[in-house]
Amino acid sequence: MNNEAKIAYFSMEIGISNDIPTYSGGLGILAGDTIKSCADLKIPLVAVTLISKKGYFRQDIDNNGNQIEYPIDWDPSKLMVRSSKKILVKIEERDVYIQTWCYKVRSVTGGGVDVLYLDTDVEENTKEDREITAHLYGGDDCYRLKQEIVLGIGGVRALHALGFHIKKYHMNEGHASLLTLELLLMHKRDVESVWDEQWIWDVDTVKDLCVFTTHTPIDAGHDRFSYDLVKKVLGAVIPMEQLKKLGGDNHLNMTRLALNLSNYVNGVAKKHGEVSKTLFPGYEINAITNGVHSFTWTCENMKQLYDKYIPGWANEPELFVRSEIIPDGELWEAHLQAKNDLASYVKKASGTEISGSALTIGFARRFTSYKRADLIFSNLERLLKISEKGQFQILYAGKAHPKDTPGKDIIKRIIDLSKNISNKINIVFLKDYNAEMALKLVSGVDVWLNTPLRPREASGTSGMKAAHNGVINFSILDGWWIEGHIEGVTGWSIGPKPLESSLTNTNDMIDAEDLYNKLENTIVPMYYHDRNQWIKIMKNSIGKVAYYFNSHRMMRRYVTEAYIR
Ligand SMILES: *Cc1c(COP(=O)(O)O)cnc(C)c1O
Repeated sequence: MNNEAKIAYFSMEIGISNDIPTYSGGLGILAGDTIKSCADLKIPLVAVTLISKKGYFRQDIDNNGNQIEYPIDWDPSKLMVRSSKKILVKIEERDVYIQTWCYKVRSVTGGGVDVLYLDTDVEENTKEDREITAHLYGGDDCYRLKQEIVLGIGGVRALHALGFHIKKYHMNEGHASLLTLELLLMHKRDVESVWDEQWIWDVDTVKDLCVFTTHTPIDAGHDRFSYDLVKKVLGAVIPMEQLKKLGGDNHLNMTRLALNLSNYVNGVAKKHGEVSKTLFPGYEINAITNGVHSFTWTCENMKQLYDKYIPGWANEPELFVRSEIIPDGELWEAHLQAKNDLASYVKKASGTEISGSALTIGFARRFTSYKRADLIFSNLERLLKISEKGQFQILYAGKAHPKDTPGKDIIKRIIDLSKNISNKINIVFLKDYNAEMALKLVSGVDVWLNTPLRPREASGTSGMKAAHNGVINFSILDGWWIEGHIEGVTGWSIGPKPLESSLTNTNDMIDAEDLYNKLENTIVPMYYHDRNQWIKIMKNSIGKVAYYFNSHRMMRRYVTEAYIR
């Protein structure tokens, strides 16, 4: 093995390929895009995650619109190589063995990145322990803490056992923060020379090794565990007093632990960096806005067009600055083909016919309340009126976490509505959202809708995927869109500007009202009567949005701002 010192990138979920169902949403897809860009750009990185052998879940929807969850049984041995080395961690004072699967991501540039998937499903373990790496985000707090021990502590041990030489540890969200404890133990000072118990912990050395990216803009979203649970499950790997100093007095807060032990911390969009600073005063929090992997998130028809007019775009997305050079007619033609591909996909997946020419709006992401998937239905009468001025159809997809009842209720509401108004507006909910479906949707609709509750959308990335395909964003000014949006030039906003005052009193009705006004007075008329202007905005989506919001740019910034310092 080439023993160049690497960045170790830790993520609870990684969405790298549709065949490896170890992701639930944007966090995992971002991790996958990060890895692909590192492979393309030959950034020395190795990734660590859990095998999640039952996946997140497969989603079915019954006749009443209820979500039903099934485990996904997939076989890593078809795609990955298992290492014969097993490593050990202690959980509830038991020895738990972990084996590692290695998946190699190779780039056409000749670069490559190893992804290590940790797996406790080995003979030596008890039946219960074999399940630790079965369900992504499954189970209770105790189950989660066990997973985080495997990821954080087991992950560091696996890297060393396999001979990797690590120069930085990058925690993608707080789930991997326990790795800092393993590093503290590794860098413990020589006990002989101790005059103070504190002094044996070399916090500064560990901080120099760690980079932390936070993804959650609200306090309740951060993993925290009671110290009773920590004592029982993790044990006193470092003295409790010391752990409380690093992880918080009342609970072990994984975000705080990572913040206290990382010299570089960032949020995932400029606004999110600011919001994080107010959540965690006293910490220096930077911002590196997310991006998506251009080659992965561009559909076949657009790829051909870019290859013809912007050769080299995939490994140098800055070249999208030349999007003007694409002839209007050819861009529209490629888009129409993508739209037709989507129509056949929808027909196959759901049995429903959709129009190949009507204005098509797409909304797909995790179904959780703050994403407000049903905001567009706030005033049904108004929405139906708008549809009389110009036909449109809406495509939906997304999973709700098995324990997220409000999220599931939104799915049900949309499915109920789709039945009630199907003679006026065609609404299709596609079940079992995944990365493959995501590409079909973000490339085959005309408008990509996002209506999160501010400031909850740390970044969001699906709109960046849409832009890579000339699909126009129509979104709340939150997360990345605050940076990408120029009204009427790169797309359209929904609701007020993201001023401090508007963050605390968001009003669904004000947002919905603005959505209706723009849909009625700008979007529908432009789509049907001013194709030239529409295509201009499509080109700006490529030339101004995809140009910047890609993971090549993002990773170059992680290298210069976080990894080399
Ligand atoms: C990109 C992507 C997401 C993230 O969508 P957001 O709108 O940014 O939340 C979620 N799930 C899948 C499958 C994706 O491809």
